[in-house]
Amino acid sequence: MTDLVAVESLAKAFGDHVVLRDISFDVAEGTVTTIIGPSGSGKTTVLRSLNALEIPDAGVVRIGDCTVDFSTIKPGHRGRLPKADRQLLATYRAKSGMVFQSHNLFPHKTTIENVTEGPVVTQGISKEEARTAAAALLEQVGLSEHADKYPYQLSGGQQQRVGIARALALKPSLVLFDEPTSALDPELVGDVLGVIKDLAAEGWTMVIVTHEVRFAQQVSNQVLFVDGGLIVERGGSEVITDPQEPRTQTFLKRIL
Ligand code: ADP
Repeated sequence: MTDLVAVESLAKAFGDHVVLRDISFDVAEGTVTTIIGPSGSGKTTVLRSLNALEIPDAGVVRIGDCTVDFSTIKPGHRGRLPKADRQLLATYRAKSGMVFQSHNLFPHKTTIENVTEGPVVTQGISKEEARTAAAALLEQVGLSEHADKYPYQLSGGQQQRVGIARALALKPSLVLFDEPTSALDPELVGDVLGVIKDLAAEGWTMVIVTHEVRFAQQVSNQVLFVDGGLIVERGGSEVITDPQEPRTQTFLKRIL
């Protein structure tokens, strides 16, 4: 299988606080990678780097045919990035879609309008075409009957599923999930995890930061255990069922 994503030696500090030390991994096309580890270990920063929501200090990331060497991306005059860098980062960002912890939906737009907004505004797709595609996505995430409701009329889990449909509507090569269930009531978690499992079965390439280790075990082709800004252990779901590194063992013992 070809690698869709290749991450090489990502490093990032916030001031004196080194958050990513040296992060390297690949993601094969059509697979699910989960990132687990203690709070504050750098998981979200890795994920945000894949969408350039954080700009790492160093490291090279390739997503599909787009490669960014972050050591060359430095603000120039008056803290602004040069035009060529901004264009490169725009291409890079468009490769992935991010599903956030809280849904960030437009409150004054209906479910289907939330899903069509991106394709119409950023990709110049006709409203009609966008609505047809959005209706199919809403069916996929089990929300067809809620297409014309506003976010406040939906449960947290339903809102999160709109967030997923909205990310998929832009047809990204890679879907990134930042703790997709951590803001949900426990009884709603299963629905969202079910949708993610369905997407995995359909062959979407996904990278997921999650606290739901049992879910990670079920859905992952690759598990990355991150601690202290390093990948301490990497493998298949055996990282969870049969961890080899003492730090992974300690972490899993504490949470399982
Ligand atoms: P995790 O997702 O594993 O909980 P994060 O990647 O969110 O960890 O954060 C790692 C560390 O980086 C934490 O100590 C966090 O406080 C710090 N951090 C994250 N984002 C910022 C930021 N924008 N400014 C300063 N510190 C940050």
